[in-house]
Amino acid sequence: MSNEQLEQLRSELDDVNLKLLALINQRAGLVQKIGSVKRESGVNRFDPVRERKMLDHIAEHNEGPFETSTLQHLFKQIFKAGLELQEDDNSKALLVSRKKQQNNTIVDLGGELIGDGQQRLIMGPCAVESYEQVTAVAKAMKERGLKLLRGGAFKPRTSPYDFQGLGLEGLQILKRVAEEQDMVVISEIVSPSDIETAVEYIDVIQIGARNMQNFELLKAAGSVNKPVLLKRGLSATIEEFIHAAEYIVSKGNSQIMLCERGIRTYEKATRNTLDISAVPILKQETHLPVLVDVTHSTGRRDLLLPTAKAALAIGADAVMAEVHPDPAVALSDSAQQMDIPTFHSFIDQLKESGLYK
Ligand code: PEP
Ligand code: MN
Repeated sequence: MSNEQLEQLRSELDDVNLKLLALINQRAGLVQKIGSVKRESGVNRFDPVRERKMLDHIAEHNEGPFETSTLQHLFKQIFKAGLELQEDDNSKALLVSRKKQQNNTIVDLGGELIGDGQQRLIMGPCAVESYEQVTAVAKAMKERGLKLLRGGAFKPRTSPYDFQGLGLEGLQILKRVAEEQDMVVISEIVSPSDIETAVEYIDVIQIGARNMQNFELLKAAGSVNKPVLLKRGLSATIEEFIHAAEYIVSKGNSQIMLCERGIRTYEKATRNTLDISAVPILKQETHLPVLVDVTHSTGRRDLLLPTAKAALAIGADAVMAEVHPDPAVALSDSAQQMDIPTFHSFIDQLKESGLYK
């Protein structure tokens, strides 16, 4: 074969490549159109019956030189890329996504702006037990210039025989302490029917890990004008977490903070495994502020400081930890809450590290 013939064949190959390119993209355009029709009619994107028919059709028309199995493999890759394209379109449309909104969402908690670049601390007892207990923690926090007080009035406990929280009385205590000590209060709500009452008492609705996929609760929280602190589910993927936030935003409430609180793994040294890389991933994928709960992720008092440093270093907008005047007698999470002197040294050491201003 002469050099000229070789050049001629190469040029034909280039032309075929360009035709294939155009055809593959033409196919992708059709796949996108089919995807949007399916989305509107609520039909599943992946249709294995249809895929099988297409593969059979290709086999029937194959005249070689490729083996049918080779061609089916190539087409399967094209089908897969088409499916991913439809999925991409879907995530583009998510209201919480960075693609939808470039700027960071800043959530205003009574003048404390979460997501404005200043990293903050959210602290308080696991459960509201008494007016005196909450006041003691609030006073210590106030001394250190902290305003964001958390405390559970409705406690979603693993066992029904464990302390379930003071309920409405707990919310009343939080409101009273917030007024007296000039605090902003965050408390978990576990039932959609409690939201309406709760907004009269608290400044931020917390949705706990066990309720991350309680869709009726998410929708109810999305229907009120109150910031929401949404915690990642015990075994939730980042994608599921983002979709849970989308439930809230889709109802009109965009004041959401995401909270990484550890996920369930095979590791037993900590109560959960703190997925620290979730912080930058969530910040890349969404425009929402991201918090790290060091208490429930570790379940260990000795790990609160190092994990808080890690959270600040990786860019969390706030760190959350539990403080109790006397953890030994706490009605919940007594193993991991800090007492007040430990709380002070926690703040001192964070400041000394230069990570917390
Ligand atoms: C809490 O923050 O009080 C709590 C119960 O945490 P989680 O929902 O993450 O377990
Ligand atoms: Mn707790």
